[in-house]
Amino acid sequence: MTQVFTIEPRTGQAFDVAKGRRVTVTDPEGGQVADFYAERLGHPAEFISPGVTIDCNESLRLRVGDVIYSTHYRPLLKVLADDVGEHDLLHPCCRPEMYEFFYANGDGHPSCLDNINSLLAQPQAAITPVNLFMFTEIGIDGAIKVKAPVSRPGDSIVLEALEDLRLVVAACSVSESDCNSGRCTPIQLTIEELPA
Ligand SMILES: [Zn+2]
Repeated sequence: MTQVFTIEPRTGQAFDVAKGRRVTVTDPEGGQVADFYAERLGHPAEFISPGVTIDCNESLRLRVGDVIYSTHYRPLLKVLADDVGEHDLLHPCCRPEMYEFFYANGDGHPSCLDNINSLLAQPQAAITPVNLFMFTEIGIDGAIKVKAPVSRPGDSIVLEALEDLRLVVAACSVSESDCNSGRCTPIQLTIEELPA
């Protein structure tokens, strides 16, 4: 069985996904970031950790074959395929304070932190998700620059759930920079059983 969901611009959705399912995150219009959060189903104190993922994969990049780990160093998801090759493991979810800091427009601004927290049983003070399709250029001097995603319309990344998971995915709300190419568009998520 295959289920397809559309996450409207500047919103989030939650999905309970059984171990072994394949999850495809698609950028339908191109140039849009998906803030991807996961926690172990029934164990909300253990959740996705880009920091642990960097540690275990010994890389700032996410490549096909890599694993996304939890805060407890448990494999949560495996990258099966990827059209894009640029994803961000560094940045926290956008939040009203971020909009205030950079653009002086934080009051009432939709944000990935609020969109994800509103779907969690235990909201968190801060969240660093895996920022799918987000293109952060990292200089050899350590400087970072957020550039427009290189994802083209219909590009996707395919993940295998290695545990029973609750996923919460937000179509990022930033229109003020190149992060989402200057406009907010939807994200599509497809959940299917792995072929035997
Ligand atoms: Zn965001």
